[in-house]
Amino acid sequence: MTAAEFDIDWADARVYAIPMRTRFRGITVREGMLVQGPAGWGEFCPFAEYDDHEAASWLATAIEQATVGWPEPVRDRIPINATVPAVDAQRAHDIVAVSGCRTAKVKVADHPESLPEDLARVEAVRSALGPHGHIRIDANGLWDIDTAIDHIRRLDAAAAGLEYVEQPCRTIDELAAVRRKVGVRIAADESIRRAEDPMKVAVAGAADVAVIKCTPLGGVRRAVQVAQAAGLPCVVSSALETSVGLAAQLALAATLPDLDFACGLGTLSLLEGDTVVEEHALRPVEGMLAVPRTPPVPAPELLEKFQLTDRDRTAWWHQRLARVRDELTQ
Ligand SMILES: [Mg+2]
Repeated sequence: MTAAEFDIDWADARVYAIPMRTRFRGITVREGMLVQGPAGWGEFCPFAEYDDHEAASWLATAIEQATVGWPEPVRDRIPINATVPAVDAQRAHDIVAVSGCRTAKVKVADHPESLPEDLARVEAVRSALGPHGHIRIDANGLWDIDTAIDHIRRLDAAAAGLEYVEQPCRTIDELAAVRRKVGVRIAADESIRRAEDPMKVAVAGAADVAVIKCTPLGGVRRAVQVAQAAGLPCVVSSALETSVGLAAQLALAATLPDLDFACGLGTLSLLEGDTVVEEHALRPVEGMLAVPRTPPVPAPELLEKFQLTDRDRTAWWHQRLARVRDELTQ
């Protein structure tokens, strides 16, 4: 792919900085860029610590969105899970209660002594969801095998049944070892994104579910290929995009032939604002997100409001964009 071929006005790329409501993934402000092409706008928002090589897939997603758009959807509504950060039990209860979602994903293993807080958090979420809701937990690969086995059993009991555990440990071999010992489904997230061959996860018996994000995978078409290669039921999950980038994730969820689980795309509420007007913001209603008929368009007044003001930082983003374009064309 040669980025120069694409009719994108690179010099006019906009840099945004939107405060987070709750610190998430270690960040308090979400930054990214929006670029415009013949098919609309694309969002380029790799996290700051990602190198140019890793960021190139994120740019490919933005280019797909801005230049060719997405395949035809096979569904127009996507079930969404509430996302519960590592907050106290009362706050966890409130987040789920107001979400209208029937599924909640709860962050656990936030620090080494987190088990009592994790147990209280999943109990609070169960009481908010009622007996028929689904609770999944995400450890972001932070447990070792023995800790994972012990904590999953306890959290499964506290939750009165877990839907699945996302990335309990870091490596594929560790996931497989945990999966053999617990009666709860294992979902692979980081392992799918980082594996050169996503099928390895399934072949190793490491997971029952694959978490797929199109933004770090290089676009909707590429993510559909990865989903097929993984050969597992998929959950589409966000990379903390604004509505412009979330639309790509929604397009992926709308394109996959099978969708058995609620998707992690209700993350706009983690941001203090958005790049599109509230009327078109991709916020779930009663736990469902409607697939937009036309891709979201950023509002000039919001681009202005959330424009990154730090000049050095803005220059850093433009330089990064230029380098990552070079990376893509190599
Ligand atoms: Mg995860």
